[in-house]
Amino acid sequence: MELERYRYNSAVEAFRDEEYPMLQDSVYLDHAGSTLCSKSLMDAFAKEMTSVLYGNPHSGSSPSQHSSSRIDQVRIRLLDFFRADPEQYDLVFVANATAGVKLVVEGMRSLPEGYVLAYHQACHTSVVGAREEANESICLDDTGVQSWLGGKNPFKPKTCGPPATLFAYSAQSHMDGRRYPLSWTEQLKQCEAQSSSRTLVLLDAASLSATSQLDLSDPRFAADFVVTSLYKIFGFPDLGVLLVRRSAEPVFDRRRYFGGGTVDVVLCGDEQWHAPKSYSLHERLEDGTLPFHSIIAADMAISTHQRLFGSMDRISAHTAYLSRELCRGLHSLRHANGSPVCHIYSDIPDDAAPVEAGPVVCFNLRDSRGLWLGLGEFEKLAILRKMHVRTGGVCSPAALASALELQPWELKRNLSAGIRCGEDSGRFTNKPTGIIRASLGAMNTQSDVSRFLAFVQEFFVEETLRVPAQATPTLKSRFLDNASEMQVKSITVYPIKSCSGFTIPPGVCWEVRPEGLAWDREWCLVHRGSGQALSQKRYPLMALLQPLLLLNENVLRVRYRGSTPKGQPTQVDISLSNNPSDFDVGFRQTSSRVCGENISAQSYLSEEINNFFSESLGVPCMLARFPAGGRGASSRLSKARLQKHQKTEKPPSGQPSPFPGVPSPPESDSEQQVQPGKILLSNESPILMISASSVKMLNQAITESGAPAVEESAFRANVVIEAVPGQCSPPPYSEDSWRRIRIGSHGFKLLGACQRCQMVCVDQTTGERKQEPFVTLAKTRRLNGKVFFGTHMRHEQLDQSAGSVALRPMIQVGDVVVVDDQEEEEEDGVREQENAEGTTLNMD
Ligand SMILES: *Cc1c(COP(=O)(O)O)cnc(C)c1O
Repeated sequence: MELERYRYNSAVEAFRDEEYPMLQDSVYLDHAGSTLCSKSLMDAFAKEMTSVLYGNPHSGSSPSQHSSSRIDQVRIRLLDFFRADPEQYDLVFVANATAGVKLVVEGMRSLPEGYVLAYHQACHTSVVGAREEANESICLDDTGVQSWLGGKNPFKPKTCGPPATLFAYSAQSHMDGRRYPLSWTEQLKQCEAQSSSRTLVLLDAASLSATSQLDLSDPRFAADFVVTSLYKIFGFPDLGVLLVRRSAEPVFDRRRYFGGGTVDVVLCGDEQWHAPKSYSLHERLEDGTLPFHSIIAADMAISTHQRLFGSMDRISAHTAYLSRELCRGLHSLRHANGSPVCHIYSDIPDDAAPVEAGPVVCFNLRDSRGLWLGLGEFEKLAILRKMHVRTGGVCSPAALASALELQPWELKRNLSAGIRCGEDSGRFTNKPTGIIRASLGAMNTQSDVSRFLAFVQEFFVEETLRVPAQATPTLKSRFLDNASEMQVKSITVYPIKSCSGFTIPPGVCWEVRPEGLAWDREWCLVHRGSGQALSQKRYPLMALLQPLLLLNENVLRVRYRGSTPKGQPTQVDISLSNNPSDFDVGFRQTSSRVCGENISAQSYLSEEINNFFSESLGVPCMLARFPAGGRGASSRLSKARLQKHQKTEKPPSGQPSPFPGVPSPPESDSEQQVQPGKILLSNESPILMISASSVKMLNQAITESGAPAVEESAFRANVVIEAVPGQCSPPPYSEDSWRRIRIGSHGFKLLGACQRCQMVCVDQTTGERKQEPFVTLAKTRRLNGKVFFGTHMRHEQLDQSAGSVALRPMIQVGDVVVVDDQEEEEEDGVREQENAEGTTLNMD
């Protein structure tokens, strides 16, 4: 056992770099979703495809005949791979497991009395969907199935013409790895004998067969239909199979649709008639041209898989061992106060009572106070550290709702709230809305498991006890004393959302508008295919698009700082005028999505402009403008709000400091928000401000960990403030507690801390993705699972009588910054509506 395990692991370690070079430093634990293809397989396929002439199988030519005979051969080989006797089973090629389910549904619904469906709770969404064609359907948990097997039919008896019954279940849950007994089918067939209607069983083997032997020769095996996906087993080809027990073939006799290749004769005259092919079931069900290249690849896939990994039983033993290690490892992680870090939904391995389970571990993370970690926050870090796992609902609706104890109304509420910027688990009730799933496959090794455990340990285990905050001197006196020593260090606007910034030169006064600094985020690039506004998070090269505001020329000039093919323009000029009739520029109203929000913007028709951006980024896109003053979908509202940790109404009362070592105000539960103001295309607020002193503090932590310091530009702030040279700096992160500041003679209201994502890791000079500063931010500035840096603000008219100066407020570099107020009640605060609680990311 021990030796075999060692052998397998070292064999994989020896060939992994060679066979799976794309894995490099990644830890890939997402096999239940799909596996990866090996280099050997792709090489063998490429060789075959370029050396043998294969034709479309529906003809008499020899290349065509060649394809046909290969297909027949692969069909037999696959039946053999699943140990299915060709006398008893036929194998139908389908696009994926889902297509196999749909084909079964097509057959069932064409039965004279239709069908009723009972599906087990662990079913995949693709199987649950089969209920929509059924006369009646029911979801059964284990007890429900047991009671049915005990003779209690879950459906009400029908008086006339009883429909057929379809029972669908998973051989192995793709959510938590639990396995369900093959004997269910057998037992059900025995019950059927006493019933007047026919019961058929659909077994979903997509998860089970990925890492273990699907064995149709097992005497207990009695399912009528079995679906699975080949890509989950071999990585390639993207194909599924439907295995049909010969005795169940008549289910398809009344299938209505027919496609090319499935019929012998079709009459289209007065008499509309066709003769289905009669020889075999697969001939009648495989509509149109078979994916013959893929089918031929399946042959090579089996050979390569066997050569690399040996048998499915070996894979099964290996992955089961790894998953036990992973599950035990996660289970044993504890915070300093002894509370568990992981809540595991899969069965915890127990040597005393071993259960057979698939290599899938499904869990959620909690902090030391027992609060759930948002999946989004987990994902950001996992992406940075190249830990690839699945998160969310994982297509397992019934089992998920049951594991998380989610009620239908909660699911609906999550849906209506979740359309913003991804999910945010526990927004309402501190209940998770999804799970983290790590699943193991043939090419995983022990080191993948250790690396994943180390990752969870690094970011999610609180290793020191939180110390209660020291009695802080009154915040007011401390910060306000320093306040007069601060000034504006720099001002930056980002005319095109997510592109580089335009730095306002010293000595230039810049206008502050209600919706933000003049010309900030008034344009965006919209993907031609999806209509989404492009973001640096996905397209980091946007950082190389450098805008220049040439106000005297009335032009926004954009240069691309990256490399461009010869002859391609490196810059483009866009008129600043907002009146299309003034210039020869056509606009079209287009709908787009910014951060999950539907907006209506004016997109440019100019090919010169759109081509410039598309070619620079290598993404089909167009420029769109979103000028101020729009209404409805042409306007947006600020979503920034004070975060819990910024509330100062309540005294510290021994609350632990959220950010150890950094002065920070105590928590409060009350959620208040100022009246939302208008914004353009920034993600959530008019102006983003950061403090140089906080950047310095963060850089200290970053350099201590051995990484290079980051530039201030990474945070894409509009306003950076600093200590007046020679004066002492404001305490780092003191801006978290400010409520109002003055810049020069203008008042600003601070709206709340800015939540960050891994986009701060895009190097703004090179467009490269790095790990910092997000990794260190996540360790030092994470609160309630979210990472904060910088603060949102908006201009606030302080003195109505101040005349024209106040009407057109201007700020410039060197303006004195004074903290006016840091802990008063929000006088214009409105109780926040639940749905208005936007998930906050950074400004782009
Ligand atoms: C992956 C999976 C499916 C869906 O397979 P597709 O090939 O995407 O259609 C269905 N059921 C289970 C159990 C799965 O794991």
